Amino acid sequence: MRILGTLFALLFLLPAAAAAHETADARWSIAIHGGAGTMDRESMTGEQRAAYEAALQAALDAGAEVLRNGGSALDAVKAVIVPMEDDPKFNAGRGAVFTWEGANELDASIMDGRDRSAGAVTGVRTIRHPILLADAVRTDSPHVFLSGAGAEEFALERDFEIVPPEWFHTERRREALERMKAEQVSAVDVDHKFGTVGAVALDMHGNLAAGTSTGGMTGKRWGRIGDSPVIGAGTYADNRACAVSATGSGEYFIRVGVAQEICTRMRMAGAMALDVGDDTDGSGAPATDVPLTGAIVQRIADSVMAEVGALGGEGGVIVVSPSGEAVFSFDTPGMYRGRATSEGVNEVAIFAGE
Ligand code: ASP
Repeated sequence: MRILGTLFALLFLLPAAAAAHETADARWSIAIHGGAGTMDRESMTGEQRAAYEAALQAALDAGAEVLRNGGSALDAVKAVIVPMEDDPKFNAGRGAVFTWEGANELDASIMDGRDRSAGAVTGVRTIRHPILLADAVRTDSPHVFLSGAGAEEFALERDFEIVPPEWFHTERRREALERMKAEQVSAVDVDHKFGTVGAVALDMHGNLAAGTSTGGMTGKRWGRIGDSPVIGAGTYADNRACAVSATGSGEYFIRVGVAQEICTRMRMAGAMALDVGDDTDGSGAPATDVPLTGAIVQRIADSVMAEVGALGGEGGVIVVSPSGEAVFSFDTPGMYRGRATSEGVNEVAIFAGE
């Protein structure tokens, strides 16, 4: 009987205790965005605001749930972005902006900070969830970046969910295109808020991931591609540094290489904090065990966003560090955003200063 009791303890109680210990120690963290822009408080009704906040909270909760249960940062990023791609309030998947010719061309990218594997698609017109296709490019092809008809052929071969192009149409976005043409104004003028979606996460196992999905900018033509599907510009993740997803006037984010620039500065700041070389043993481990404080992460993100601003661009980024600091930086009047951590942070916000 005693032997049986001991066996029971070994088999069930000890692993459970170990798991509980692991859970108590391990940090997780997630930040999300639904685009930045010149939305103004006065013209947003209480009802609209509540609808955006509810959508952000639901997406944030979906990602946090994955992380809380020990799931991967990559799965959390996808859990956030998939429902946002289905939500017509955001400029990703259904609700994407229109091209000059009146089509919806979707871009998405995703990156795993563990091994810097990355996948991206641009200009797809019939894929319900471009973020999932980007991830399939990462895991199931020798490539990083697929475009247009080739990306759709790749999806077809893998039984991806295909929808008719009308699935993505919304009246609001069509009106924006018409207004742009009639008033001869820029995409920034008609889009007001960019509406791209993104997520960055740290899981309990210390892995980082980032993802971004968008319809681009209203009236884009000539096969224009923004920063969102460009690894290093709109999306980047490196376990040694951080995970970043961006939103804003993509041309400037590409020129600055925003997401990778933030990660590089994080890595260098970490190395300098210890005054040692970066990743000297080549293990891919964090450059330093001294975690950078939230204030330093904020300063690095702000300094890269200042470069975007100095060139004439605008928008924002979300950043999560290896120690779980979740930071926003944006130079627009607002950014749809949210963050949650194992430390009990759980918040969504829209305007600056909230
Ligand atoms: N960055 C996106 C692009 O330039 C637009 C956005 O963030 O909404 O395509």
